[in-house]
Amino acid sequence: MSELHKFLFDGLPVRGMVVRLTDAWTQILQRRAANSDTGAYPEPVRNLLGEMTAAAVLMQSNIKFNGALVLQIFGDGPVKLAVVEVQPDLSVRATATVAGELASDASLSAMVNLSNQGRCAITLDPQDRFEGQQPYQGVVPLHGDRREKLEKLSEVLEHYMLQSEQLDTTLVLAANGEVAAGLLIQRLPSGGINNLSAGRSANEDEIGRNEDYKRIALLASTLKKEELLTLDVDTILHRLFWEEKLLRFEPLMGAAGPRFACRCSRERVSHMIRSLGVKEVESILCEREDVEVGCDFCGQQYRFDAVDAAQIFKSGVGPVPDSSALH
Ligand SMILES: [Zn+2]
Repeated sequence: MSELHKFLFDGLPVRGMVVRLTDAWTQILQRRAANSDTGAYPEPVRNLLGEMTAAAVLMQSNIKFNGALVLQIFGDGPVKLAVVEVQPDLSVRATATVAGELASDASLSAMVNLSNQGRCAITLDPQDRFEGQQPYQGVVPLHGDRREKLEKLSEVLEHYMLQSEQLDTTLVLAANGEVAAGLLIQRLPSGGINNLSAGRSANEDEIGRNEDYKRIALLASTLKKEELLTLDVDTILHRLFWEEKLLRFEPLMGAAGPRFACRCSRERVSHMIRSLGVKEVESILCEREDVEVGCDFCGQQYRFDAVDAAQIFKSGVGPVPDSSALH
């Protein structure tokens, strides 16, 4: 079962999380494999999308925000787009568009950053968006400060967290055909909780906080992908942090934890068809029996024949509803 574990380092300004997606991840892969238009993901794309999925669940759980978190990579290589969407209830869906040939051991830059134009975007789409409100979006490149191509998704996202959230973060991510998993360690903003060092100067305080975070981040960075994929969460935390005092929270799993769910519906697709306009839809229906729309996330096919289409334009399905209204 997929699970999310949160913990604090007792008395220290550092928090952490581990996510292990098993059923949630394999459902995403099985649906893709069953899609006769696309077939299964090539292995490196699968692993990238898995790491993105684990990271998006960690980021959704980490940011105090009521709405969908969407993690996207806009690639300039054979992978044009990879998208993961996580709702506040931790339901998740993910998809990627692959246009070209890929080596079986393709690196991150070979997939999405061939000419160093690839970008990673994090969008926070509030659940109760008022009219005219735009979702918040932060964009980071897939290269470092000296334009060197980054080869780890974790580094790209660490940059984002530092730039956009001003938070020091260490991420370890890994995925294969059965598991997508991630470890996040983060320095809590100073002046926050756990102010146990009254009497010391603010400066000493800050240095102490830094040292604590650095030590724990260093321990976290020794975690190997193989360990993250194969060990259970208790074993991982014990191996890394057996000398630290962890305060652990009740893990989120099952209906309260990360799980696959797609939010597509016939009604939503109707809105999409309506936005194409009567002319466009009529011209499609001149050439074929029905308008067929497949959901990229779950593979569900929606078909609308001439009668359905007439109904859509006649009834005027109404304004596009808020995304949260149709869960
Ligand atoms: Zn769907």
